[in-house]
Amino acid sequence: MKNKDLLDSIKSRVLLCDGAMGTMLQAEGLAAGECPELWNLTKPESVTGIHKKYIEAGADMVLSNTFGANRLKLEKFNLDGKLREINEAGVKNAKTAAGNSPVYVGGDIGPTGEMLEPYGTMTAEKAFAAFSEQAKILAGAGADFIIVETMIAIEETALAVKAAKSVTKLPVMALMTFKINNGDVRTVMGVDTETMAKQLEAAGADIIGANCGYGIDSMIEIVRAIKKHTNRLIIAEPNAGLPVMKDGVVTYDGSPEIMASRVEELIDAGANIIGGCCGTTPVHIAQIKKMVERRNTK
Ligand SMILES: [Zn+2]
Repeated sequence: MKNKDLLDSIKSRVLLCDGAMGTMLQAEGLAAGECPELWNLTKPESVTGIHKKYIEAGADMVLSNTFGANRLKLEKFNLDGKLREINEAGVKNAKTAAGNSPVYVGGDIGPTGEMLEPYGTMTAEKAFAAFSEQAKILAGAGADFIIVETMIAIEETALAVKAAKSVTKLPVMALMTFKINNGDVRTVMGVDTETMAKQLEAAGADIIGANCGYGIDSMIEIVRAIKKHTNRLIIAEPNAGLPVMKDGVVTYDGSPEIMASRVEELIDAGANIIGGCCGTTPVHIAQIKKMVERRNTK
């Protein structure tokens, strides 16, 4: 059981998570409006191929391509009937890529895409049911941990963590997306890092952190702010800089070298796991790996 030693191994060294899946799938031909998670079934070799590239780049953990595979999101594609298959195949593709290596597979869970009452119409019960349904399938398919990420609403994040904890004993990570205004670090919806840390700890998250939003510069500040308010391990997955339009295509301005050059500061700020979000590629992860290795052998 890999999950038994996951939390221990993070305590002794910095671990490297993989980079982006979405932007990699787009590079392989995923069209706008297509369900990325359906590729687990229709193009498993593409998905497994991306996982393999991250593992070859040195990632200690890869995340299943199941970010949007909750009931509420799949219903919009009329794919809710395939919910179990899509999530099981997502974990299987990652496990196939990991093979017998010590690479951990995270069962990935993203937001429902709906707003909870009173801001929106989704009830807490409905969100909890969707998250527990997905987490149970991911755990049952053999994920080593559950990762709830790119969350913007604290209430929904806490519900997702509680839901995962209610159906599995696996470690649960919870990552939110932040913005910084004149040095004030808050979630996209305006929650400060102290409230975020307290609520996610209370919900039972084993590891908390941040992903997406901006590049590594902002992430260093965000991790520093979170670290002030928690004793939990911290995960950080910055984007590859900022998105820029180039010939009608979105690219990211942060080169692998720029990201890697700031990794030591990110570790000093308190990050125990480092990965990449939008725009990061296996080349970014390979560059970051060098810096993480240097730190781990110090
Ligand atoms: Zn992202």
